[in-house]
Amino acid sequence: MYIVNFTSDDFKSNLKKSDLVIIPVGMVEAHGHHMPLGTDIFSPRLFCSMIEKIIGDKVWIAPEIPFGQSFDLSFYPGTFSVPSEVLAEYVFHIGKSMLENGLKKLIFLNGHGGNVTALSLASQRLVELGMDVMISNWWVDYSKEILTITEGQGHAGEDETSAILYYDEELVQMDKATKNNKKPLLKINFKERGKVLYENALSGDATLATKEKGKKIFRLLTDRMIEAILLIRDGKYYIEE
Ligand SMILES: [Zn+2]
Repeated sequence: MYIVNFTSDDFKSNLKKSDLVIIPVGMVEAHGHHMPLGTDIFSPRLFCSMIEKIIGDKVWIAPEIPFGQSFDLSFYPGTFSVPSEVLAEYVFHIGKSMLENGLKKLIFLNGHGGNVTALSLASQRLVELGMDVMISNWWVDYSKEILTITEGQGHAGEDETSAILYYDEELVQMDKATKNNKKPLLKINFKERGKVLYENALSGDATLATKEKGKKIFRLLTDRMIEAILLIRDGKYYIEE
């Protein structure tokens, strides 16, 4: 149920169907020389439309939050970054307003690694207000599944490029796809990190990407996400072994 397609009256009367909302969170950011700036918006968007087709009446879908935080890649042209503090505050108030409207459970369907800090901060505050919140980072949470389909992962790498080829192949310039196999030795931040580790705004091997792999990623991960959505909707958060 795409919230923005409902009238106020219909939104209210359909609340009994579900109190769970997905907020897709993206970014406008450089993705190699071959991928569109909206890549991190498009992946959550496609997951949402597949979820809507399969279990549309069981979950609300909010409009996308398009701008996020890019610590590493902000010097590449076309990257529009907002600080984590600002994003966290904004996202918190959106969640709070949703809670006040009767939406008690929330999934941030996130498309961009730089957003995680802000989403975690906002989540903590929303949980304090009584909301149940999950942050879903598809390329991390379902890495094991993705690696049954692709050889590797990376920013604008094989998995993400495959995803966007499936979203809309006309937006991808495969003749400009490259690879960058540098891997960090440590989780350490330094000023040139983006330039060094994400040379050409890319990590991994985009040349291995195909539309077919993208289709498999979306199908498999959408199934996994739907399992999670149904568990959350039913309030089943743990098992006892
Ligand atoms: Zn991305």
